[in-house]
Amino acid sequence: MSQDELQCDVLVVGGGLVGATLAHALAQVSIRTVLVEERDPGFLEQPKFDDRSTALANGSQRILQGLGLWEDFAQVAEPIKSIHISERGRFGATRILAKEEGVSALGYTVENRILSSAIWPRLLEADSLVCKAPARLDSLTVEDTGITAEIESDGLRCGIRSKLVVAADGVRSRVRSALHISALEDVYEQTAVIVNCETEIAHMGRAFERFTSAGPLAFLPLSNQRVAVVWTLDPREADRVINLEDDEFRCELQQAFGQRLGRVRRAGSRSSYPLSRVRSTTVTANRAVLVGNAAVSLHPVAGQGFNLALRDIATLAEMLSDAHRANNAADFGNTGLLKDYQACRISDQRRIAAFTHGLVHLFGYETGPLAITRGLGLVAFDLLPGAKGQLARQTMGLGGRLSRLARGLPLVP
Ligand SMILES: Cc1cc2nc3c(=O)[nH]c(=O)nc-3n(C[C@H](O)[C@H](O)[C@H](O)COP(=O)(O)OP(=O)(O)OC[C@H]3O[C@@H](n4cnc5c(N)ncnc54)[C@H](O)[C@@H]3O)c2cc1C
Repeated sequence: MSQDELQCDVLVVGGGLVGATLAHALAQVSIRTVLVEERDPGFLEQPKFDDRSTALANGSQRILQGLGLWEDFAQVAEPIKSIHISERGRFGATRILAKEEGVSALGYTVENRILSSAIWPRLLEADSLVCKAPARLDSLTVEDTGITAEIESDGLRCGIRSKLVVAADGVRSRVRSALHISALEDVYEQTAVIVNCETEIAHMGRAFERFTSAGPLAFLPLSNQRVAVVWTLDPREADRVINLEDDEFRCELQQAFGQRLGRVRRAGSRSSYPLSRVRSTTVTANRAVLVGNAAVSLHPVAGQGFNLALRDIATLAEMLSDAHRANNAADFGNTGLLKDYQACRISDQRRIAAFTHGLVHLFGYETGPLAITRGLGLVAFDLLPGAKGQLARQTMGLGGRLSRLARGLPLVP
């Protein structure tokens, strides 16, 4: 054993939104954790007009509240009061209203940087947590009694021994490869163009999802009277619009979206993300759990990726916390615990992956019988509160078996 070897109960690889939130949850229940993140936490500068944001489901708000994080950004989280779903050039639209669902908001939009800025300072202060950042996982070996990882930080190598490794290292997960877990990829031949805009008419908490022939276009309400735009296009079109002059870009965006919020007055800088669905063939393995994009990376059409991951880590943190309370020297990598975790989470994971994939396909074809069906589908959908309620509850993260955190209860009973 080298002098530089760290010992812990849980090694979390990847300190993006998912890994950082899990590390924070584990620190709250004093589980000895090491978090390894490649980027320097210095990336958390002041918020900017152009920051990327995430639509948080109502269930996610509860989880973040239970973890003591919500109050840090409640003031700047923009409530989504309604979602208007329509199709460009076709008859039929549907509205999901918070008040019809009996909730004060269907969800909230928050900038990713604000979320990270709420979590990271707590991580750096937590007693039971060691943050290695910037540090990169280089290798991982799994044995019957535990895992051994090697990381590189500032040109120095360091070994880590842990009972359990959690892969939160994104869609091209190094941990997943080291564990020889394969991933299935559906390439959508679509690219998401992301941009924040100011519009002439105040959004008043309204979110819009508009299905165009090129793909879905979402306008989400954001703080400071901005809207967060996710514009899905064919990759060549995305390349073209991303390079347009500002005026031309606003004009084309306006044409695609219509006039519901009046003129698009200002558009910030644009970024783009090629879209695919990547699913690991399993989310647990010997002494390992995969979460977030490392487990499943989804099309952003329904804003489900982070919300699903939060439900996963709320359940995982609850199980690890319960095991820790029952036995201070619990083996967190034991097969029974990992099996229970997978059994609890598999149906929600499959349902959301299939639901999102289905939406992409339902609205991904321009002509033919499917186009007529979906026009009718949207009208029928508006007349069928049951179906609509089910969709709303699904997207709010309130379906299926819920962890304590997702039910608004603390992590420890
Ligand atoms: C355009 C777009 C819009 C979206 N909108 C929404 C939304 O509205 N709502 C929603 O719920 N979801 C949304 N999502 C999905 C959401 O962004 C993802 O689910 C979420 O970011 C996944 O986070 P993660 O932490 O798992 O992965 P990542 O953010 O990829 O983080 C992985 C981390 O691991 C680190 N890492 C990687 N390799 C190593 C290594 N070898 N060693 C150490 N560290 C490593 C990386 O530096 C990174 O910080 C959207 C996605 C896209 C693309």
